[in-house]
Amino acid sequence: MRPYLLLTPGPLTTTDTVKEAMMSDWCTWDEDYNIGIVEVIRKELVEIASSRPEEYTAVLMQGSGSFCVEATLGSVVRPTDKLLVAANGAYGKRMGVISEYCHIDCHVMKFEETEAVDPKVLDEYLTAHPETTHVAVVHCETTTGVLNPLEEIAAVVKRHGQVLIVDAMSSFGGVPIDMAKIGIDFMISSANKCIQGVPGFGFILARRSLLEKCKGVARSLSLDLFDQWETMEKGHGKWRFTSPTHVVRAFLQALKELKAEGGVAARYGRYCENHRTLVDGMRALGYKTLLPDSQQSPVITSFYYPSAEFDFKDFYQKLKAKGFVIYPGKISQADTFRIGNIGDVHPDDFVRLIEAIKETTV
Ligand SMILES: *Cc1c(COP(=O)(O)O)cnc(C)c1O
Repeated sequence: MRPYLLLTPGPLTTTDTVKEAMMSDWCTWDEDYNIGIVEVIRKELVEIASSRPEEYTAVLMQGSGSFCVEATLGSVVRPTDKLLVAANGAYGKRMGVISEYCHIDCHVMKFEETEAVDPKVLDEYLTAHPETTHVAVVHCETTTGVLNPLEEIAAVVKRHGQVLIVDAMSSFGGVPIDMAKIGIDFMISSANKCIQGVPGFGFILARRSLLEKCKGVARSLSLDLFDQWETMEKGHGKWRFTSPTHVVRAFLQALKELKAEGGVAARYGRYCENHRTLVDGMRALGYKTLLPDSQQSPVITSFYYPSAEFDFKDFYQKLKAKGFVIYPGKISQADTFRIGNIGDVHPDDFVRLIEAIKETTV
């Protein structure tokens, strides 16, 4: 079932047992599905995300992660509100684009792609612009692999009394995050990232008391977060429109496997070890990372091309033939490629990868 390992930030390499979980059909209106699968997932997501689960609730939403970001911004920020987006990469900028589409009054504060979002700069802006009501930020900017300082950012946002929306797409489940402790109001992730499910839906973790007030705010019917939540809540796991049943079932299996691994802390440990093995091996071969270690997440790592003559396509094809699919770079200022550390991949896979890269370069 595995022609090659995906060393990409999602879809990523999943276990055979997650794929096998998709081998039965489910009825969206039957309680085997709604109560037996959807409600279990919603409850477990809240428990993973918050040390005070009673204050939070989970909504599952069809589509990829961006659909969920759009559902959140479009259903939470009112026409009279003002949103600040702190952006140090493509996903932060996308939140700015979504805001334009939704006619949200929004300011995008741009940071260098190779630097983390600076909480001090954020603080200065919020002091000068007290009319701001919501702040949105990406936790792990998958564009480069930067891990933004979520706790410091949240402390600033809370001090100014604003609502904090976090795109934790590529970190939730793989990097410990306690929404209650940190003070996050809305957090978005998707099935095919660190929980290690397959693509097809995403989810939003929301502070219940805030989501309850979002009736009628949405700019889109299919992306109405409140309506989706209300239907799931009152219907005990019912989706408004056709849900990706097989994918949702696979996700339940992925959650079981996360638990069996030892939860988020254990998975974070494995991702860190994957990352360490990768970076140590690459540096020994002469490759340089785009980011300093202090800003680097264990999720995905960007490397500079080793020379001006480097042919990424050729490198990519050779590694693919050896069983590894890597990722092109996504920034404009430098020639880079990326290697993902997440999914059902383990330190020994990275030892083999380094060996393959060594053979490819010779
Ligand atoms: C994957 C990802 C998304 C969502 O991208 P989709 O292509 O819509 O799944 C959003 N933000 C971040 C940080 C991501 O890594």
